Amino acid sequence: MIMKYQFQTAQDLLKLTSKFHLPISEITKLYESERSGKSISTIRLKMKTTRDVMYEAVKKGIKSKRTTQWTHSGGDAHKLYQKLKSLGDMMGNKVTVRAMAYAMAVSEQNAMMGKIVAFPTAGGAGVIPGVLFSCAEHFHAGKRKLLRGLFTSSAVGMIIANGATLSAAKGGCQAEVGAAVAMASAGLTEMRSGTPEQCFDAAAIGLKSYLGLVCDPLGGLVEVPCIKRNAIGSMAAIGASDMAIAGIKSKVPFDQVVSAMNNIAKGMSPKVRETALGGLATTEIGNDIKRKLGLPIIKEK
Ligand code: SF4
Repeated sequence: MIMKYQFQTAQDLLKLTSKFHLPISEITKLYESERSGKSISTIRLKMKTTRDVMYEAVKKGIKSKRTTQWTHSGGDAHKLYQKLKSLGDMMGNKVTVRAMAYAMAVSEQNAMMGKIVAFPTAGGAGVIPGVLFSCAEHFHAGKRKLLRGLFTSSAVGMIIANGATLSAAKGGCQAEVGAAVAMASAGLTEMRSGTPEQCFDAAAIGLKSYLGLVCDPLGGLVEVPCIKRNAIGSMAAIGASDMAIAGIKSKVPFDQVVSAMNNIAKGMSPKVRETALGGLATTEIGNDIKRKLGLPIIKEK
């Protein structure tokens, strides 16, 4: 069956947006409808559910002072959110501090086995709600605009999955937090009425900054450095979107960044691909945690 709206790469998608004079979010919806055989209203409803689950995780996370079972994380989203009452001793503004708080809120919920949306993965689940919800509050965006951001983000995620990977076991943290940053950068840019080209410039700038990032969680638990990486990733995505909106282009087109990511993934040591056998996982503190968990200790020179 020939599909009118099918795309595998950013280049394909840009051609479709120009052919049909539609934004990325609309083409994505049409493609999903064509691919799945479901109506546009069903696809939209599904994304609304996704948005609502994300929002619940944010709301729960910013209130929670609980720590995880092993007490390696928890309560930091709440601390940061409290700072929004008076930003006096913060260098970030309301949008960025709130984005970090929201990103941490979702990631802390994930660490506590709360309900989150693995968008694109559980480890990188904080970045997109952090960025999109905080920025939507800033420009009083309605729920429809937020959905546009989510559809555009999902298109970028699909392109990364096609051309590289969204699995940390294959590509390290560039495939989790890095992919989430690229997705959020593009989603936010469309919410700001950026052109499809600007969305991909933002995604390319975001992803380029995360190429080669390893996966090295302490004790193999998705807590440290994962939660704070999501917070920092949300600031990176806002920065990438700002650059694209200012008219700054990525020298390397998005598809080529994805291809570079894939090549880096292939050459990445298995020690830093979700095995907790290298990087931060084998620091002194990393090994202390492993001992408590009864995991074998790796001493690196
Ligand atoms: S360090 Fe590994 S487990 Fe943690 S967010 Fe990154 S990819 Fe996921």
